[in-house]
Amino acid sequence: MKRDTKIVNAGRDSKWTKGIVNPPLYRASTVVFDSVEQMKHATLNRANQEMFYGRRGTPTTFSFADAMTELEGGAGCYVYPCGTAAITSAILSFVKSGDHILMVDTAYEPTRDFADKTLNRFGVEVTYYDPLIGQNIKSLIQENTKVIFLESPGSLTMEVQDVPGICDVARQHQNDITVILDNTWASPIHFKPFEHGVDVSVQAATKYVVGHSDVMLGTATANEKSWPILRENSYLLGQCASPDDIYLAARGIRTLGVRLKQHQQSSLEIATWLQQRPEVETVLHPALSTCPGHELFKRDFEGGNGLFSFVLKDSSPQGLTALLDGMDHFKMGFSWGGYESLIMAVNNLKHMRTATTWPYDKPLIRLHIGLEDVEDLKADLDAGFNRLAKYLD
Ligand SMILES: *Cc1c(COP(=O)(O)O)cnc(C)c1O
Repeated sequence: MKRDTKIVNAGRDSKWTKGIVNPPLYRASTVVFDSVEQMKHATLNRANQEMFYGRRGTPTTFSFADAMTELEGGAGCYVYPCGTAAITSAILSFVKSGDHILMVDTAYEPTRDFADKTLNRFGVEVTYYDPLIGQNIKSLIQENTKVIFLESPGSLTMEVQDVPGICDVARQHQNDITVILDNTWASPIHFKPFEHGVDVSVQAATKYVVGHSDVMLGTATANEKSWPILRENSYLLGQCASPDDIYLAARGIRTLGVRLKQHQQSSLEIATWLQQRPEVETVLHPALSTCPGHELFKRDFEGGNGLFSFVLKDSSPQGLTALLDGMDHFKMGFSWGGYESLIMAVNNLKHMRTATTWPYDKPLIRLHIGLEDVEDLKADLDAGFNRLAKYLD
């Protein structure tokens, strides 16, 4: 099956749908059994998509987990109430007190916070590494290194990592190192984590999988080796997601292919337009050569999306506020991956990086290019630059 056909069919096995087009919504806490034998059967198979108790999931969960496994690859998928829960559970599944993990310097801020606050509190040592380190990551591996965590492209600054290179190093090492990738930017279809050697791939399904900015959800998909450990530990942590939310994510997935095509096309058009603008110092879009790791994007990714950043050439606090306050379409908001455009400015990234030095001192602006018409979006940005200019000398 080709990719777009897979997106339509993934997880829609008749054992879950009973012929209904969209896998139906099953809500449950208690599941009842008519006989001791049925209950025994359910107990024996409770970790393998057998109806047992609501926390283990319902057919809504199982169908969605199957869909994610079919799209991303791997041996199984666990569903969490948000992307952050998927990240923290994936990491906690593979470390114990006294272990060491390597964390990319450009990780999503709550991932960093979890490493610095929670992992440190449980005696797990964290070393941050340069996203562009590639195979030189070898020099940072210690006796007790158990997890290498990647996020590619990096949060806000978009550096693309050498995922297969780092996975090779991890596999050659005698420690049993688990490579966990935050694969949210690529969504389940634009980067194949398991073909590139990753053990566990995390998605903030909140973003493009859901696609409509109205649900929080996370997934972690794992290969044969890591799946039983991830599944067991995530269960022990009490992770379970609402079938209502999962239903919406499963619905969202069907249009992932067409949505991403449009996000990608519009974002590339706006990014190249921004490159010509005198107000812009640099554009950090993985599909453009000005983005660190662009060659790796070309080598490893099957497509892009609507999320990228740029750095202003000149700015002032009042000017930046004027730019942001007057936008018609680019509203300020966290998250991304819905159908609407978003804008977010970061004044200083210096304190958010410890293994590398952020080279710019002017604000970074991150855009999510939604499904609006590109001309309307350009006009919105153009007017924003004009408001900024009024406050510059
Ligand atoms: C949003 C995001 C997350 C966290 O997802 P939530 O569902 O908001 O918890 C993790 N990683 C990346 C790269 C994200 O953009």
